[in-house]
Amino acid sequence: MRLLLLSDIHANLEALEACLAAAPPFDFVANLGDVVGYGASPNEVVDRSRALGKIFVRGNHDKAATGLLELDDFNPMAAAAAVWTRDQLTPEHLEWLRSLPQGPLPLQDFPHVQLVHGSPEDEDAYVVSIGDALVPLITIATPVTFFGHTHLQGGFFANGSSADGFRPEYRTVGQAESVSLQLKSSTRYMINPGSVGQPRDGDWRAAFALFDTEAQVLHFHRTPYNLKSAQDRIFAANLPSRLATRLAAGR
Ligand code: ZN
Repeated sequence: MRLLLLSDIHANLEALEACLAAAPPFDFVANLGDVVGYGASPNEVVDRSRALGKIFVRGNHDKAATGLLELDDFNPMAAAAAVWTRDQLTPEHLEWLRSLPQGPLPLQDFPHVQLVHGSPEDEDAYVVSIGDALVPLITIATPVTFFGHTHLQGGFFANGSSADGFRPEYRTVGQAESVSLQLKSSTRYMINPGSVGQPRDGDWRAAFALFDTEAQVLHFHRTPYNLKSAQDRIFAANLPSRLATRLAAGR
């Protein structure tokens, strides 16, 4: 089976459409949360995401937009976007977002895989460094965890002798590209497919990944998208302008 991994779409319709157009054939989609927040197309992105499948875990921005999370811990820019998003979403989409499950979520038929937005220990925790990843890697029984939240494509591994982080290395800064990683059975992984709609790893291209469960190969992808259209929608919505400009820098 080929599993398409999408995370942190953040209401960026242009980036989502570009990922779906660039994705190789897949059997099902797993969405790692933050469907909305920051971007200016929340209803369109919820519609599209729901049509893609039923496997979701909730993100902190999904919780914030639906009132499940207080905005006290959000920076002013994120809080403003959450309030705007709440006002835009249809009642039905709000209800659907509010009902998304909390991770970690086991993947049916694939007991070696689980899904979470932040960390297996805390759905809202950021796993940025090997120090953050080490305890979950060595204590949780599931060999492969797919996570999001940091908007950084790549991940962490641990086996009997070593533990470290990894990032896919691409050749260009503007083309559609893919980098593959062969998983080893003796190693545990935490893997982030990257953010579809607001990458923060210095690469403006939309990020996603595809996991081939039989071959145990993870394919990281980046694809250019219609950045200007996504930015123009943010400006037109009177959302904080930095939410548009940061997309160009991938920060
Ligand atoms: Zn996010």
